[in-house]
Amino acid sequence: MTTTASTSTDSSRLAHSVEEWANCLDEALAGPNADQLRELFLEDSYWRDLASLTWDVRQFWGREPLLAHLVEHAKVATPTGFTLQADRSAPHLVDEQTCEFYLTYRTATGTGSAFVHAVLDPEGPGGLRAQVLATTITSVDGQAVPSTQRRGYTAARPGQTWHQHRRESQGFEDTEPDVLVIGGGQTGLIMASRLERLGVTYVVADRNPLPGDGWRSRYDSLALHTPTVANNLPHVHQPETFPSFVSKDEWGNYLDAYATFMNLNRWGGTEVVSAVFDETDRRWDVTLSVPGGATRILRPAHVVTAVGYTGTEPYIPDLPGLDDFAGQVMHSSEFVSGSAFAGQRVLVVGTGTSGHDIALDLSDHGAQTHLAQRGPTCVVPIEEAERYNLDYGAPGMSVEEADQRRNSMFILPLVEEKARAETQRTEREYAEMYDGLRRAGMTLTTGEDGGGWVLRLVKSFSGYYLDVGASAAIIDGRIAMVQMADVDRWVEHGLRLRDGTVIELDAVVLSTGYRNVRHSLERIFGSEVAGRVGDIGGVAENGEHRNMARPTRQPHLWLLFGGIMDARKMSEVLALQIAGQILGATPTLVRDDRDELISLPPLDAAGEEVAAR
Ligand SMILES: Cc1cc2nc3c(=O)[nH]c(=O)nc-3n(C[C@H](O)[C@H](O)[C@H](O)COP(=O)(O)OP(=O)(O)OC[C@H]3O[C@@H](n4cnc5c(N)ncnc54)[C@H](O)[C@@H]3O)c2cc1C
Repeated sequence: MTTTASTSTDSSRLAHSVEEWANCLDEALAGPNADQLRELFLEDSYWRDLASLTWDVRQFWGREPLLAHLVEHAKVATPTGFTLQADRSAPHLVDEQTCEFYLTYRTATGTGSAFVHAVLDPEGPGGLRAQVLATTITSVDGQAVPSTQRRGYTAARPGQTWHQHRRESQGFEDTEPDVLVIGGGQTGLIMASRLERLGVTYVVADRNPLPGDGWRSRYDSLALHTPTVANNLPHVHQPETFPSFVSKDEWGNYLDAYATFMNLNRWGGTEVVSAVFDETDRRWDVTLSVPGGATRILRPAHVVTAVGYTGTEPYIPDLPGLDDFAGQVMHSSEFVSGSAFAGQRVLVVGTGTSGHDIALDLSDHGAQTHLAQRGPTCVVPIEEAERYNLDYGAPGMSVEEADQRRNSMFILPLVEEKARAETQRTEREYAEMYDGLRRAGMTLTTGEDGGGWVLRLVKSFSGYYLDVGASAAIIDGRIAMVQMADVDRWVEHGLRLRDGTVIELDAVVLSTGYRNVRHSLERIFGSEVAGRVGDIGGVAENGEHRNMARPTRQPHLWLLFGGIMDARKMSEVLALQIAGQILGATPTLVRDDRDELISLPPLDAAGEEVAAR
């Protein structure tokens, strides 16, 4: 019997519709049968897989390509047993025509969770047809099952104290870790907590002594732009007493506490100097510089880099004549507070987040402030960004569910469509503010693709400003705009414009960003490995972030980066992929030049290729 969901708006009838749809999915995938599957999807439908059926992070656009790939992967992954997921919201309508629900299922190698965004369609199975199906890996067979059912710690010898136990178990004096994570800021910590829970042994190495040091070293006026409710790390949440947007120092302190409470194996004051892949036993020879200047060698099977999206090396563009400038020149990474510049004439180069924040801080501290723009900027009030985080803290919605929904709906054509519509709305709604900014000399843009700040964030992580006050200061003249296109050159006492005017300056702050993370990779792994991995970040033609939490072209090398929310979800997906390879649930998968996955033959315990014998 087919239930028509459009007439079944109460929750139990919707649940019944969903069950019918899920049963049809189960049956169609068992074949797998493309004709049966076709009934379940809209023509304009999408599938994103987070390493559950493809062992990759992929998205497929349009029903026919979706079906072709789903059938192909279902043959190997054999997903089955789709049932409503107990720890997620019950099936519910998101508007009059659309509903959403979560299903769990098994695969040949573990379990998964499916998010479905479906329209009410009397012709579809259960009266539904899916617009988005997103499948996510949730466990891999053989992984450790975390348990808290113990008293204290398991001492390695009689009389071993907890402190000795911790020090010795994270020292890896007699054993090698499965994984080395390079970088122990927030991303490295999240990755470590995922590996820890899966029973995968690891070391996180960071040249900073403490996890929060990176954030603490940023400028004093910085507060996070993402709300506190959206920023909690797995298992240990921030105190309820934290403000809705925490300062960078509070966030840094939370990271320190997180590493302590989670008992993470983080080696502070430790720089990863080089890493060379040994093709014979497929392990890395990693040289680390440890506190005190000594050298330590580790031989992990896998390396995850978590060295930030933009890298940590300041980017300084070619600015003609800057060497002739007699005043102070610093990169934004060295800027601490406007208090040191009270009464001075300061120019900030760059109109991204840090450029705006620093200019506002300077102005607030009584500096005569100029802001130099290199290219058009997308500006929206911070409240606009919050529209994208409404799931976090919503009644009944866990952080895990909000993350799953966010990542499930990260389908590039849908993100673009929404971003363009939102940009048109903000253009109308904030027309007065935009007029004021233009009159003050700022060049604005809605982005190359009309997708405003959202697509700039997604595609390049730069070129936008979420306004927390600097726009008003620009409009009322507290911050004076300068267009770099009008600049002739730097001179001893300031900046000379093409019309001959000289802007007298005491100091310059270069908010010009950082060199791409690829440079960090080159220094550690050499240019051959970095070249093989290729571009990092941004969005590839297939809609996915390049090399983010998916197999790279270099065996056993993985990358994790992004904001807090991205790293939180994708760390889980990445940790399970690594666990899958270590447990032999999946072969060693590597990306080829066509962006397809190929598998390497498995090794036996002695490190020899099993297939070669
Ligand atoms: C001004 C600013 C504001 C931001 N605000 C937000 C926000 O509100 N919300 C949000 O979600 N995101 C925000 N971000 C983006 C992102 O969350 C941060 O950049 C964050 O610091 C990224 O964390 P990470 O751990 O990936 O990288 P990082 O914090 O850059 O940490 C990388 C670590 O790698 C270490 N490292 C690098 N190379 C080596 C090596 N060879 N050996 C050992 N250690 C090494 C470094 O010491 C560093 O500790 C912001 C970014 C900036 C710049």
